[in-house]
Amino acid sequence: MIEFSDCSLFYLQENTKLPVYDKFNLTINKGESVVLIGPSGCGKSTLLYMLAGLLKPSAGQVIVEGQKIDKPRQSTGFILQDYGLFPWLNVVDNIGLGLKIRGIHKKEKELMIKQILEEMGLAPFARHYPGQLSGGQRQRVALARVLTLKPDLLLMDEPLSSLDALTRERLQNLLLEIQQKEQLTTVLVTHDIEEAIFLGSRIIVLSGELPTRIIGDLSNPMVGTKDFRTTDNFFKLTIKVRELLERGLEPA
Ligand code: ADP
Ligand code: MG
Repeated sequence: MIEFSDCSLFYLQENTKLPVYDKFNLTINKGESVVLIGPSGCGKSTLLYMLAGLLKPSAGQVIVEGQKIDKPRQSTGFILQDYGLFPWLNVVDNIGLGLKIRGIHKKEKELMIKQILEEMGLAPFARHYPGQLSGGQRQRVALARVLTLKPDLLLMDEPLSSLDALTRERLQNLLLEIQQKEQLTTVLVTHDIEEAIFLGSRIIVLSGELPTRIIGDLSNPMVGTKDFRTTDNFFKLTIKVRELLERGLEPA
């Protein structure tokens, strides 16, 4: 379980405080796939950084699995928008990096990498360098690298936003598969309404005005069902989230 409890956080901008969060509360249950959606600048990345232990709230606390977060935690995986791959390492070595740091034995490491390459459809590109891959392939490598570490919590900051529409949809399908198979708790940030509804078992809408407030917390029990994208339910949720976002841009 994840708990933000009375979390406040401000940034200093030219000697004035920009309050992004003020006594913010949120509880996320194990196994939920939460999508955070909100306008640019509303604090989505900031929330993920706090959850990852990379930013400390100025007041309040973040708790993951009963543990107060004040530094990064081993079993939290974090995927950034720009992939975070090392250009001088090929696909296999990029994926193996985390395992190497953890001191996993060579034989075991090779086996784990082989398996994930297959799963992610990356086997033909094993010896390629990031510069030789498309955006979608790079994002698969980034995902593979995090997943080999068997995280129990996966954070993703607009992971698909720089991909073209079709690649994006294919990776959304892949993410959904991973979520369903691994029973991971995921927190994904997006500004894309359809992506939010396709991937979130719970969709949290944040206000545009700072400090950010939660202006919508929708459960999405039909997520992951067959042909969800084309259902009435999907369409209705799209309208609801859009309305919330529009309302959130107006002053409270
Ligand atoms: P989002 O990810 O929703 O676009 P962010 O969490 O990146 O929003 O940022 C929230 C607000 O805080 C924005 O107004 C942004 O300009 C500001 N901000 C983010 N990082 C910093 C920083 N390191 N220093 C000062 N202000 C920042
Ligand atoms: Mg951001």
